[in-house]
Formats: sequence, structure tokens, C-alpha cells
Amino acid sequence: MNIQPLNTKICIIGAGPSGAATSIFLSKEKVEHIIIDAAQYPRDKICGDGLDLKAITMLNHIDKSILENELKSNGKIQACWGFRLINPKGKYTEFVYKPTSGNEKKPPYGVSRRYSLDNILIEKFDKKYSIFLQESKAIKVERVENKWHILVQQKGLQITIISDLIVGADGDHSIVLKTVGERKINREHYAGGVRQYWQGVEGIHEKNLMEVYYPKSFPMSYFWIFPLGGGMANVGYGILSSIASKNNYNIREIFINLIKEDPILQSRFANAIAIDNVNGWGLPLASLRRKCSGKGWLLVGDAASMISPTTGEGVGTGMQTGFIAAKFIKRAVEQNKFDEEMFKNFDREVYRRMEDDIKLFNLSMWFSPKMMGWVMNNIVPFNYFKKLFQTKVGQWLDTAYNKEIRVKLD
Ligand SMILES: Cc1cc2nc3c(=O)[nH]c(=O)nc-3n(C[C@H](O)[C@H](O)[C@H](O)COP(=O)(O)OP(=O)(O)OC[C@H]3O[C@@H](n4cnc5c(N)ncnc54)[C@H](O)[C@@H]3O)c2cc1C
Repeated sequence: MNIQPLNTKICIIGAGPSGAATSIFLSKEKVEHIIIDAAQYPRDKICGDGLDLKAITMLNHIDKSILENELKSNGKIQACWGFRLINPKGKYTEFVYKPTSGNEKKPPYGVSRRYSLDNILIEKFDKKYSIFLQESKAIKVERVENKWHILVQQKGLQITIISDLIVGADGDHSIVLKTVGERKINREHYAGGVRQYWQGVEGIHEKNLMEVYYPKSFPMSYFWIFPLGGGMANVGYGILSSIASKNNYNIREIFINLIKEDPILQSRFANAIAIDNVNGWGLPLASLRRKCSGKGWLLVGDAASMISPTTGEGVGTGMQTGFIAAKFIKRAVEQNKFDEEMFKNFDREVYRRMEDDIKLFNLSMWFSPKMMGWVMNNIVPFNYFKKLFQTKVGQWLDTAYNKEIRVKLD
């Protein structure tokens, strides 16, 4: 069957948090577009499911009712009031945000299964401005004269989308990145992670703290327990790929053995049951600056390697890049210009917001594993850091729940 090509000015490939945010913010700017995803929603994504302050901020900017509805006791987002660091000796340091007056219902963090969260986001698509095609996989992207021709496999059919601009929001294995740049993995700036859902992990803090443990036997790696409520937790393990490959580590085996044999974790998992398999995926980190825009293209989220190198979180940074992308795209559509010049400040605006993270990561890379253990054991527990946490989170909450975010286009 001969199907007519679909013509559009903007095509977003991928409807995870980064693509979904791009679509939602484009619709708020009244910009028509097509968004496609290979999957049928709701769909799972291997992730720790943790929502940092950037993610909370973006959810509020999308629609305040998301947190209002989903933080309720039967909602799909678990409120978290801080985090617990477990040092290599097994000592807990807890950072619990004590809400000031007026902030009692504004948690700084959350945990939500991606199966649910990503579906909440796609339900916010505005049909007036967006066409969403599910089970539609981009299998070929090519430049023909001044347009993009995107060949899409949709169940048994093949369709072509012709577009002035493409937004690569198609995650770590991005076909858009492969078309416009190079996807060579630099292991110093890439991590591997595994995740498994567990029921009945003991010792979860009453304020649902997100927990990160730094195991003594595997320096410079981290094990997490992120509470999902109702006795469920997302449990996982991550490590920088350069360290894993240098030591010939098998991440999956380390994760399974830590749960079984690590003295700090054993008691926590003594009565817990795993409710699915151990699943793994890659984390492209923002610590290596890459080109995220060019003539007729933008990359957002994992496709742009936007995961925080210090925390491994990419849902919030991904949505943030989508938010910024929408502002640049709106101007491009208004001027009907999609050349490189139009997007030249996109990279600056994106990386400006990652600077502190990248600096902290680079600093930590100067530390030997022994020094890092010493810092964890002796410096992090200081009360000064807990006070700093209380102040900084308080300031961020204002941005997350109240303030408008400005993007400088020029
Ligand atoms: C083990 C692990 C733990 C993590 N933990 C956390 C955490 O706790 N908190 C956090 O914030 N981040 C975490 N991350 C990072 C986070 O998962 C990613 O940063 C986030 O998913 C990025 O969102 P995205 O929309 O850019 O990409 P994705 O979520 O990967 O979405 C990409 C979408 O594109 C679609 N797609 C791909 N190719 C095509 C194609 N050719 N055509 C059409 N559609 C396509 C896919 O179906 C998918 O829906 C973790 C990652 C890993 C691997």
C-alpha cells in the first residue's frame, strides 16, 4: 500500500521524559508537531525511578496537578524527604528536609516507577498541537535537500515523515545521534547500571529517604534502595564503565552477590523478595561536553548524554533539556529558520545548568578510592552539610514549586 508522507515542521523521536517534556512545552507555546515512539505505552524503562529536584521542578512546570494528585496515598509518586548515605563502614548519614511553614506538602524528591511516570506524561500531550504515534519506530533518518526524511516502521506498515527539524529524544541508543554525530562510548563518561524491584526490604526510613550505599568491596560504585511505598523498593547498582571494564567486573553478578553476602545489606534483605529479574541499561553522562544541536536538529535527554554524572539521575535533566528545546524551537518556527545559527545557544543553555554537577564529578575523579572512602567516613557526616542541605533544598523548593524558569535565547 502506498501511504502518503506526513509533513510537519517538527518531529520528536522518542516519548520518554525528555521527548514528552519537549512535546508538552511545545504545545504550551502553541507549536504544532509530531512525536513518535517505538513502544506502546505504558512501557517500562530500566531506571532507579528516583525523581530529583529538577524532575520535581519540571513536573510542576508541566502541570501542578501531577504532584497534587500523584503524591496522595493511592498516587503513583512516592514522596521522599531526603536521602540516606551509607558509608563503606556501614554508618548512616541522613539528610532529612524539615519543611518550613507552607512547605509541608512539597517534598523535594520522589520515586515513581517509570512504567507509571512516563505514562502520566504522555497523557498530558495536547492533541490540539501534537500528533502522537506509538509503536512507530524510526528506522532510517536522512537529509534530503533541506528536510529530514524519517522512515518509520509502524506495525506492518512503513511511513515517511518529512520534517524541517528533528528532535532526538530517543535515549541512549539514539538513531538521531547516529545520523547527526557520533555515538562512540567513552567509558570515562558512561556508566552501567542494573535494577530490580523488591518487596519487604527492612529499615526504610519513615520519611522514605532514598538510600545510597558505597560498598567497601567495590570502591567508586554505588548501590541504591529507593522506596516506592507499600513495602516496594527499586533496588540497583551502578558503576562507571571505565572502572568496571578495567577490573573485568560483571555488574549483574556484583549486584546479586552484594544482596546475598554484603554484611551491611544482608539484614536489610533477610525477609525481602525480588519480584522481577535483574535488568541493566547504560547511563550516558554529561561530564563530557558534546554537541547537542546543529542544522535542523536538536538532541535532548539521554540522546544528548545529559545524565548527572554525580547522581546518575537523568529524568529531571532530560525534561529540562526538553523545556529549553521548546523555547528555541518556538523562535525557529516563528522565523521559519532551522539553520545552525538558530540553535547555537541551545548547548550553552543546556550545559549552564549542568556546570555544578560536572565540577563535582571532576573533583571526585581526582580522589583515589581510599580518599573517597575517607571523605565518606569523615567529612560527609559533619552537621555543616546537613544544615547546608536544609538551606539549599528550601531555596530550590521555591524554584520547584513557584518560580518561572528563564531561558536566554541570545
Ligand atoms: C540503571 C539505571 C538507573 C537509573 N536511575 C535513575 C534515577 O533514579 N533517576 C533518574 O532521574 N534517572 C535515572 N536513570 C537515567 C534515566 O533512566 C534516563 O536518564 C532517562 O530515562 C532519560 O530519558 P529520555 O527520555 O532521554 O530517554 P528514554 O527514557 O530512554 O526514552 C527514549 C524513548 O525513545 C524511544 N525510542 C528509542 N529509539 C527509537 C526509535 N528509533 N524510534 C522511535 N522511538 C524510539 C524509546 O522507546 C523510549 O521510549 C537511570 C538509568 C539507568 C540505566
